[in-house]
Amino acid sequence: MTGSLTIAGLGPGAEALITPEVSTALAEATDVFGYGPYVVRVPAREGLTLHPSDNRQEARRAVDAMRLASEGRSVVIVSSGDPGVFAMASAVFEALEDAPHWHSLPIRVLPGVTAMLAAAARAGAPLGHDFCAINLSDNLKPWKTIEKRLRLAAEADFAIALYNPRSVSRPDDLARAFEILMQAGCGARIVIFAHAVMTAEERITSLPLSEAIAEMADMRTLVIIGNSLTRRVGSWIYAPRRAS
Ligand code: SAH
Repeated sequence: MTGSLTIAGLGPGAEALITPEVSTALAEATDVFGYGPYVVRVPAREGLTLHPSDNRQEARRAVDAMRLASEGRSVVIVSSGDPGVFAMASAVFEALEDAPHWHSLPIRVLPGVTAMLAAAARAGAPLGHDFCAINLSDNLKPWKTIEKRLRLAAEADFAIALYNPRSVSRPDDLARAFEILMQAGCGARIVIFAHAVMTAEERITSLPLSEAIAEMADMRTLVIIGNSLTRRVGSWIYAPRRAS
């Protein structure tokens, strides 16, 4: 019996942004694992077992999914957006490092539309020139590292996409990040708050960093800080293709 493990991205929220490849994998799955709010996006049907789990259970989820796949099941692990962006694909490979007996399992990673691309499309083209993405959660890395990356990204004049900007357990991180960017001289840069992009609760706001308030973001917000040339045209925000 050969099972398989597929790590799939469900996109930012809208059904239409789930790729046909991911839809096919879900239609053929016997088991779907993932964080509860993502697993509920997969319609229940006969022959499919859903395995929702808690946010912090990534390592455990990866091992459980690999075990079922090794027993012959067609297992899909879902992430929101893209599974390789601050999500389950790395968690699976971390678990695989400790499990040599599973190294020959057939594993596929299916891409999805990550939040920053969906947010950028709504705003215009703020990622149209060089950019970087930073996960503001310091659950798995020291705050010192985040601070250094923010400072250097500002110095290099990247547009910056911030994932996981704020949470109940980390209410002050975004304010600290804004402070670092202000000190780096980015006060005039445009900040975009993209809340629940491509869902019914979508809300996009933009203003200069000097006027931005961290409380404008929550766990469902993707924050984009433009580069020094990012500008407005009509109701759009875009980064010109030439650098200064
Ligand atoms: N793998 C996901 C990211 C997981 S980290 C992806 O590729 O999009 C979770 C963070 O992603 C959230 O805190 C938020 O910053 C961002 N995010 C995910 N979906 C979003 C959406 N629909 N709108 C805005 N931000 C979103």
